[in-house]
Amino acid sequence: MLTLEDFRRYAHEMVDYMAGYFDRIESLPVRAQVSPGQISAQIPQECPAQAEPMEQILADVDRIVLPGMTHWQSPGFMAFFPANSSYASVIAEMLTAAFGAQCMKWETSPAATEVEGRMVEWLRDLCALPSHWQGVIQDSATSSTLTALLTARERASGFFTNRQGLQSFPVLRVYCSEEAHSSIEKAVKVIGIGSENLVKIPVDQRFALRVDLLEEAIQNDLAAGFVPCCVVAALGTTGVTAFDPLEKIALLCMRYKIWLHVDAAYAGTAFMLPEYRHLARGLEYADSYVFNPHKWLFVNFDCSVYYVKDKDCLLQTLELVPEYLRSLNHSGVNNYCDWGLPLGRRFRALKLWFVLRSFGADGIRTILRNQLDYASWLEEQLQAHPRMELLAPRTLNLLCFRYVPHNETDNSTIDTFNELLLNALNQSGKVYMTHTRLRGRFVIRLHTGQTYIERRHVEAVWNLITATASELEAGQGRC
Ligand SMILES: *Cc1c(COP(=O)(O)O)cnc(C)c1O
Repeated sequence: MLTLEDFRRYAHEMVDYMAGYFDRIESLPVRAQVSPGQISAQIPQECPAQAEPMEQILADVDRIVLPGMTHWQSPGFMAFFPANSSYASVIAEMLTAAFGAQCMKWETSPAATEVEGRMVEWLRDLCALPSHWQGVIQDSATSSTLTALLTARERASGFFTNRQGLQSFPVLRVYCSEEAHSSIEKAVKVIGIGSENLVKIPVDQRFALRVDLLEEAIQNDLAAGFVPCCVVAALGTTGVTAFDPLEKIALLCMRYKIWLHVDAAYAGTAFMLPEYRHLARGLEYADSYVFNPHKWLFVNFDCSVYYVKDKDCLLQTLELVPEYLRSLNHSGVNNYCDWGLPLGRRFRALKLWFVLRSFGADGIRTILRNQLDYASWLEEQLQAHPRMELLAPRTLNLLCFRYVPHNETDNSTIDTFNELLLNALNQSGKVYMTHTRLRGRFVIRLHTGQTYIERRHVEAVWNLITATASELEAGQGRC
């Protein structure tokens, strides 16, 4: 075991290593360029019986681990959605690890509970969310949405299913758009509603849920004796950041007394900017809401905030007080283990506190606006380019496009071309993007949401995309 003196020494070394890593991150291939099994082949099959020197362990980080890392904090990372970090966040995370506290009850770490309480209030007010909402930090949007659906299930059954299970209760139904995130289907499976009772509503031209079809589905279900339980509306879908028409959905939910959960995992950060708040119109009618500071708010994973209108309903769904925790119930405090699934909880609020204070709200807004400008600049380039096609409207800083080779009209040939293009781009090591399919077509997706991205990176990526595409097209013409 290391001594405290060893800790001091190697921890300092590690900080230098981390700073060096950030310094040279742009020279590393964004997407790991290894094949399956290549890393595990370098790790012994058994745990060493004798202690190994730290020097050797640290050397193996460079030798074994680093080549197998995909660099999510590289400004060339444009895949999926970002999972941003920032220097302040990493500093806080080190301290969280040092405290190593379990923050389930107020008493198990009063500071963790009370900082968390303040941070969810700060975020609520920064994003102009309804002031009566109460929030908690969860590990992921997946957990937040699971919690929402569980609470919706209990409200729909008058807390019957918590006691007796679903066996003797009518079929519950959940609704979301075809573009909604897979975490909804996962939650519906986990809580026993069953994926066949998740009704996926078709989307319109902008990939937003069609409210007319939602109402039709609800009416059909009522006629069939089903119990509509929850609608999950997406603000910023994963595929194209589409925004469902929240206000209209909310009116339906009120009319039919259905729980309204809103998933803004990525796009929620945009509501820090007043000019984007119109996209959240109707949010005040929601029963629950999730967004992930660990995506676009410079707080490293994991940090998902979950808000509810009716805290008592949430607690009634989840609260359990086993004997060994009974003495820990103080009045007038939050015991956050009752606000989500796991008992044990990390002190996640600390990194939020560091980030929000060290950037300042205005500092964050400036970065967000710059990143939105980069996307708008790229959109202009794409629109002006004779071979490029945008396949979804841009709302924030995500672009969905494809390259159409000269005179090519066959969609499956165009799909194959874009798959090859995406592969070539990712193999260059300079950038990492992913794809989606829209109305059956292969589409390249890129965002400009990475913490450290600057205009020069965006310009370089645009040049790389167009040069690679022309080369590929010329190469194909030759054979
Ligand atoms: C990323 C994402 C999720 C899942 O987030 P996790 O925190 O990884 O569970 C859910 N919904 C949407 C819209 C997302 O973009």
